[in-house]
Amino acid sequence: MAPPSVTSSQKSNAHGNNAALEQRIGLATSVIMPLLELGAMGFVSWVLVFLIGVQYLIDPSEDLRLGFNVQPRRGTGIALIIVYAILLLLLLVPWLRLLQVIWSKQDLVPLGDPSREKMDMSTKAFDKYDAFICDFEGMPLWCNKCHNFKPDRTHHCKELGRCVRKMDHYCPWAGGIIAESTHKFFLQFVFFAALYTAYVWIVVAVFFGDRISKVGSRPGTWIGALAVTAVFFVFTFTMTGMTGWNLMINFTSVEGIQRGGIHNIAFLISRSSREPISPPTSSPRSRKERKSSDFEEDWPVLCTVQRGAGRTSVVMQTKTLEHPWYTTLMTGWKDTMGNSFIDWILPFRQSPCKQRSHRGEFEWGEVVYDMAKKYEADNPGTRLALLEGER
Ligand SMILES: [Zn+2]
Repeated sequence: MAPPSVTSSQKSNAHGNNAALEQRIGLATSVIMPLLELGAMGFVSWVLVFLIGVQYLIDPSEDLRLGFNVQPRRGTGIALIIVYAILLLLLLVPWLRLLQVIWSKQDLVPLGDPSREKMDMSTKAFDKYDAFICDFEGMPLWCNKCHNFKPDRTHHCKELGRCVRKMDHYCPWAGGIIAESTHKFFLQFVFFAALYTAYVWIVVAVFFGDRISKVGSRPGTWIGALAVTAVFFVFTFTMTGMTGWNLMINFTSVEGIQRGGIHNIAFLISRSSREPISPPTSSPRSRKERKSSDFEEDWPVLCTVQRGAGRTSVVMQTKTLEHPWYTTLMTGWKDTMGNSFIDWILPFRQSPCKQRSHRGEFEWGEVVYDMAKKYEADNPGTRLALLEGER
């Protein structure tokens, strides 16, 4: 009988091999899929620009002109090709930007030291925040594959074998990971891909009908272009709708799958808590005192944690279906897509949600502020750092 230590090391080797295989497959598909798509774009370009634009509209063959009365329609052919070129450019620019950001790997969380465990690691990186997502003991969340703490909304991606900030999903079709820095460009990519495929499908369908009535033939290449663009249109149109909605409600796909899960949040207790509170009349910014009964909700307080010199946090828990980053649909949209229409369309500026503040890794939603206010109301004299800016 094999000793248990051998069995467990074999198991961990097998697990390591599986993980390595998954990563290789992930990487390979994220190269193969974009190449297939480029091939498909080359094919539909040939059908629309050459077979339809040039050979059917601008310069029909003698056979078509004399035999079937297909007259040259130069203006139509040129206009269709120009619009096609513009749409192709609008699709390629966000896609290239998306690939550039994916390859720059800016959303990957650095790996920790594999010889160190959670309790040996410093949580200093989280000290700068007024609140962060934590476990039941008030520690930041830990990834035991990367041996490092996870910033809020980080998820471990099995295709990359790395923790990824605000991970949405791994998308071999787009060429890699969709996360904090790529979500905006991904939405632009799928939106313009839907527009591009819809245009190609409509143009091919119209002249396919025209050709059947005049010539009576149904070229296989034209049918192929209709089939390819129909499939990609359904796919990209659906992704546009789903991604846009998720951005507005400020959910990543990972958070959408975990919807209903609770979050523990560590709120830093302000150092000013124990200092005498100045009379309300002396300060124009004095806060409206709130009573516990002002709040309908009651959030569980799990524990109070002392960390480092004078840093105390209180850990509270959200309720099911409460999302800590939801505010309004427009705020959610702007948080990723940018503050102006130009930002929504052009794939150059990064998402506003990448800007950090002392309040947290990401801007908190209403529910988190309500939790903090409720805690203060229940504990007169205690001040939470998160609410300090509000006073
Ligand atoms: Zn990880």
